[in-house]
Amino acid sequence: MKVLVPVKRVIDYNVKPRVKADGTGVDLANVKMSMNPFDEIAVEEAIRLREKGAATEVIAVSIGEQKAQETLRTALAMGADRAILVVTDEMPEPLAVAKILKAIVDEEQPGLVILGKQAIDDDSNQVGQMLAALTERPQGTFASKIEIDGDSVKVTREVDGGLETVSLKSPAIVTTDLRLNEPRYASLPNIMKAKSKPMAQKTAADYGVDVTPRLTVVKVEEPAKRSAGVKVADVDELIGKLKVLGVVE
Ligand code: AMP
Repeated sequence: MKVLVPVKRVIDYNVKPRVKADGTGVDLANVKMSMNPFDEIAVEEAIRLREKGAATEVIAVSIGEQKAQETLRTALAMGADRAILVVTDEMPEPLAVAKILKAIVDEEQPGLVILGKQAIDDDSNQVGQMLAALTERPQGTFASKIEIDGDSVKVTREVDGGLETVSLKSPAIVTTDLRLNEPRYASLPNIMKAKSKPMAQKTAADYGVDVTPRLTVVKVEEPAKRSAGVKVADVDELIGKLKVLGVVE
């Protein structure tokens, strides 16, 4: 079974984002970019499935500017077999991403697509669900465990009240949650090896997808600054202050 893993290049999770002065978005100039953390988990899971013999090939795909090839090289260094880069001028919205992925699914016929549950830059949490709808395939979102048995994919999902286990018939769409696994670091030899792994380059037009935005960002603003705290000497002083604030009686 082939496994397709879409990986997005996003602002690194350790970087504190700076909002542009005109409030139109986040300033990405000279900012460290990395693979979306949930997508690292997806790549790791796909590689583990191949190592267990449940998957035959792991294909990483990224949609975005040319530099997204760095993200794909990371996926290849972790252990993906080959990559597809779909170059666009601007980052497409989730629906356009899902349409491009649908075209790739039609072409590659993977038995499983593992995506992140959300991209940490726009927090959309949409692409996996939209891809399942467009491909008319079953979906298991927020996975904390994936087991393959023949053409059935058993997914344990993290839901509000605990864990839910569902069984999907392959080809299926799964999105990862944080506790699914701990992604490996790529070793230096594997980083070197990744340079010679195949990476196809495409455009959105190759898949007949119009990536014109449908949304206009009205405003982006930083969260309100928290006011400074007060240091108290002991518990009695703390309780006294809480009483003044009306938090305790
Ligand atoms: P989102 O719905 O935008 O929060 O993204 C959910 C998941 O879809 C991500 O974790 C990725 O696996 C995938 N995805 C979103 N955007 C892209 C992109 N531009 N290229 C590749 N995969 C993407």
